[in-house]
Amino acid sequence: MKKLSLFVACLLLASAAHAQYSLPGLPFGYAAFEPAIDSMTMHIHHDVHHQAYVNNLNKVMAENAPELGTMKIQALMRNLNIVPENIRTSVRNNGGGHYNHCLFWTLMSPPNSTKPSGALEKAIIEEFGSIDAFKAAFETAATTRFGSGWAWLIVDGNKKLKVCSTPNQDNPIMPVAEIQGMPVIAIDVWEHAYYLKYQAKRADYVKNFWTILNWDQANKYYEVAMK
Ligand code: MN
Repeated sequence: MKKLSLFVACLLLASAAHAQYSLPGLPFGYAAFEPAIDSMTMHIHHDVHHQAYVNNLNKVMAENAPELGTMKIQALMRNLNIVPENIRTSVRNNGGGHYNHCLFWTLMSPPNSTKPSGALEKAIIEEFGSIDAFKAAFETAATTRFGSGWAWLIVDGNKKLKVCSTPNQDNPIMPVAEIQGMPVIAIDVWEHAYYLKYQAKRADYVKNFWTILNWDQANKYYEVAMK
């Protein structure tokens, strides 16, 4: 028995050494976000797309930069500059994909289970005039991002809320980002996030995103960013 558990422990250690980054579970079931986001989209988005970013990242890191393998994903994103040049684009795309989706899942909750609250609600009203005015600015960023990318609400270097968007799997904590800051709210506007249900109607998907946004979690991210 002892031998067996030692063997299992070694196996776990060995696989951990080769797979630094792993796919997190969803905070709710695949169907928890209907009708805003359908179950099939959640399945494919989480199990296939996000898993692929994780697999690609693990592979490229293990083969080319095992010495960086202990870096947490957030630190890796912030320090893209120290990633060897030959794999930097791959780490930017796949590491970005991993970081962004981890964040995105935590910002989802069942329809209308949360509402704006706490310090974040206050700060949004102060910065944008009203929750509705903020939503309009965020929707514009999400719908006008050409091609694939993300829209964000961030806390910038001056501790101010800002709406911005990034292309592909870039994010505002990367040194390459045009506008930098700590994410508070994020929406994935890649077609894989909405195409099965919405086809070309990205604006409808973005509108319905408000019904499943986890405002309580966003408030937590805001408080961390303001520290
Ligand atoms: Mn995605």
